[in-house]
Amino acid sequence: MTDEPAAGPPPHLAGLDLLADAAVVVDRDGQVVHANAMAVRLLREPAAHLVGHPAAKVLQLRTDSGLDWWEGCDPLGTDPTLVRRMAEQDLSVLVGGAARPVAVTASRVAGGPLDGGLVLSLRRNDARRRRDAARADLVSTVSHELRSPLTSVKGFTKTLLAKWDRFTDDQKRQMLATVNEDADRVTRLLGELLAVSRIDAGRLQLKRQMVHLDRVVTAVVGRAEAGFGQGRRFEVELPALPELYLDPDRIEQVLTNLLENAVKYTDGPVLVRAREEPQRVVVEVVDRGRGIEPEHRAAIFTKFFRRPGEKRQGTGLGLYITKGLVEAHGGTIAVDGEVGVGSTFTFTVPKGGLELAGIDTTALRRATRGGGSAPEGPRP
Ligand code: ADP
Repeated sequence: MTDEPAAGPPPHLAGLDLLADAAVVVDRDGQVVHANAMAVRLLREPAAHLVGHPAAKVLQLRTDSGLDWWEGCDPLGTDPTLVRRMAEQDLSVLVGGAARPVAVTASRVAGGPLDGGLVLSLRRNDARRRRDAARADLVSTVSHELRSPLTSVKGFTKTLLAKWDRFTDDQKRQMLATVNEDADRVTRLLGELLAVSRIDAGRLQLKRQMVHLDRVVTAVVGRAEAGFGQGRRFEVELPALPELYLDPDRIEQVLTNLLENAVKYTDGPVLVRAREEPQRVVVEVVDRGRGIEPEHRAAIFTKFFRRPGEKRQGTGLGLYITKGLVEAHGGTIAVDGEVGVGSTFTFTVPKGGLELAGIDTTALRRATRGGGSAPEGPRP
């Protein structure tokens, strides 16, 4: 006894079993004619439970919004000579009651014994499954992060509106200051989420120009001393550095994030230093805080990670964004140091010019030389 239909696939379909993708062949009446070996594996049904049954029943495909693909798309309803192949679609297939993401392509058969039928190819879409899971995590974390400041805003405004006359001016000012801070927190979180979504989608656009990195460092340290540093002492060790081709605003953001963290998570002076290496410039932000345990050194650069037991406020997005900004420049970032002594955050930016933006300077140079003039000379 076997699950396979006694006759096996018709000879002209047997080759489908060699495919790495699941393939299901449907006749013009919507009955499954053949399901290849990968389809049997994907659907976790023996071929006999598939072949001879209505495709819409045994191959339940759903769109993102949960609609039945067979009903919505009516793939057998069109003239096969007009639409031969439908573009790949991200769908879900129901397997044992659970929806599994699949990428589906459908081609119509015109002519031959299967005239008017349909060949479906299904590929498991694991990348999408991971993306969906990450998105669900993100939504739950964001809801949580938004709820706490909004609850406080709501609580204080409600109390103030109901009992305005019962509070002293000082009490009212304090409550409004908290509301103000919480509104800032929400705005900051939204800004960070926007940056995260750009980084994740690879849509971060750099406005590169030739920049003196030492000037960026000096400007950020100046702002720290005047404001967010809260009286902290900053030391700067900067040798003469080459001009670098980078986005000054983004690198300023990287340095600001690192200095803000040093101020937020540590006490004591903070040192910023840089050095030139053959291929790159290395910048270090050194603090004398409690350091970061080796097991957390990679994790602190991931989305929403906050060190267990961390009491100071934050979303855990700062270093994720910082890393994204550095990597968009072709650089790297890491943390080192010793627990109880302090941390050293080190980031690098590659040396070089236009070629870093993907512009083929060789071609530019060749074009200039081809014109017969010196590189600086007037273009013909
Ligand atoms: P947030 O945006 O919440 O500040 P980050 O991504 O910037 O989060 O940092 C992640 C975690 O790394 C923080 O929760 C903090 O515990 C730890 N951390 C960051 N910078 C330092 C530092 N200089 N010293 C010690 N711990 C730090």
